[in-house]
Amino acid sequence: MTSLTQDGRVPFLNNGGVKRLLIGGQWVEAISGETFDSINPATGKVIATLAKGGAADIDSAVEAARLAFEGPWSKWTPFDRQNLLLKIADLIERDFEELSLIETMDMGAPVSRTSLFKRWLLQAFRFYAAQAVNIRGETLENSFPGSFMSYTVKDPVGVVGCIIPWNGPLISQLWSICPTLATGCTLVLKPAQEASLSSLRLAEIMLEAGVPAGVINVVTGGGQTAGSALAAHPDVDKIAFTGSTETGRKIVEASAVNMKKVAVELGGKSPDIIFEDADLDLAVPGAAMGCFGNSGQVCYAGTRLFVQRSIHDAFVEKLAAFTATLRVGDSLKPETQLGPLVSKAQLETVAGYVELAQQEGARIAFGGERLGGALADGFYFAPTVLAGVSNTMRVAQEEIFGPVISIIPFDDEEEVIGLANAIEYGLGGAVWTRDVGRAHRVSRAIKAGIVWVNCYGVTDPSTSYGGTKLSGYGSKGGFRHIEDYLYSKTVWIRTA
Ligand code: NAD
Repeated sequence: MTSLTQDGRVPFLNNGGVKRLLIGGQWVEAISGETFDSINPATGKVIATLAKGGAADIDSAVEAARLAFEGPWSKWTPFDRQNLLLKIADLIERDFEELSLIETMDMGAPVSRTSLFKRWLLQAFRFYAAQAVNIRGETLENSFPGSFMSYTVKDPVGVVGCIIPWNGPLISQLWSICPTLATGCTLVLKPAQEASLSSLRLAEIMLEAGVPAGVINVVTGGGQTAGSALAAHPDVDKIAFTGSTETGRKIVEASAVNMKKVAVELGGKSPDIIFEDADLDLAVPGAAMGCFGNSGQVCYAGTRLFVQRSIHDAFVEKLAAFTATLRVGDSLKPETQLGPLVSKAQLETVAGYVELAQQEGARIAFGGERLGGALADGFYFAPTVLAGVSNTMRVAQEEIFGPVISIIPFDDEEEVIGLANAIEYGLGGAVWTRDVGRAHRVSRAIKAGIVWVNCYGVTDPSTSYGGTKLSGYGSKGGFRHIEDYLYSKTVWIRTA
């Protein structure tokens, strides 16, 4: 495998030294002096050593963010903030290849995937640049025309804490960085320990673009330490959390300390429904990649695949045959479609679920094992098709977060709607059919934050996504997202 740290395309990693925390515009060591290593999941090798921030570093970062919030940044006009967002987009365009390679080496997603994030990053910064100059209150009619006038103004909520997972930090962080900059808030970002490097490189770019000291702070470190300190900090006004439902609960509890505004984007176990009239040339690869993309480490992955009984056996065969064509391997090769799982722990979790599935009575139609040979040093697991699954099995109810799809047969529309919704989560879902009426009925009936018809996983910064039920609340992207970073104040004025 090419060693990227030697080929000059990733100067950020070639620099060596400990990757430090960004606090108040300065790159600093953790107060404790502690560090941790980042491991490339494709090789099992250490690619960088990072400062391990803790509660004391979070305190300094929140203090810096508060100071910045109340300082000259508060006088920036919407047009100033718009220009800043546009400048960052331009610098990302210049340095994108490096960001994509860092993400690939840090968390394992192949370059064929991380290179697609370019559109995302650029569109997100440019979309929020437009939002920056589109913040507005309302004039409100009242009972005293001529005597009183009433209207609302929108102000930034203040210091935002953002905690993100490892499965795609280059994108996850955008949903707090962009609205923070568009509204005039300030931010303390705590990435996941497994994948923090792209956040640090993006922070460098933002400083170069002119983000003032303290407006964006990045504290790398553990969840139980830095993460929980941020979630419980009394001077943080809002928390934007993306991660597991289990941690999300703790975030909500911690928020009570000062009644923070909270958005929690959590786990999923999304239904993907194939009716007998579906275009199978679309549905087979669509359903496979709707689950296996990013090696199944996607919150809205379509992991429960409901297939109408009349086409079930043929579909299982076609899906297994398609899965066999997927190129799993070296994340850095452009032709690779699926890379490794993020860590050894994640690999063990996935392997454990596949074993459990068999104990529960499921059959492996494809995959089902760790990949060895040239891939033995990395954390690779074969994309796995499980047939003979019932919706009540643990493998069909619990989030695996790996490349494992469970196929469940159904007979009719009413039954499948019941099965699709018989789950604690409510994040995504899809329906494949040529019947337009059925497409409307079923997409409406699925209880989820986002539903696709005859496609899976299409998203854009201008459209929102979020969850319901145990998948959380508060959605990301779209025109209304920026409201979460503002609060509305009503003003009454005596006019006579
Ligand atoms: P996780 O909950 O273990 O960790 C997420 C983040 O929270 C990390 O930064 C971690 O360090 C931090 N953390 C852990 N314990 C904490 C605590 N007690 N207090 C504060 N912070 C803490 O999740 P993960 O394993 O990193 O990510 C996978 C999960 O994220 C999956 O459940 C996936 O579905 C979910 N996810 C959801 C979305 C969405 O938009 N709904 C998107 C991506 C991932």
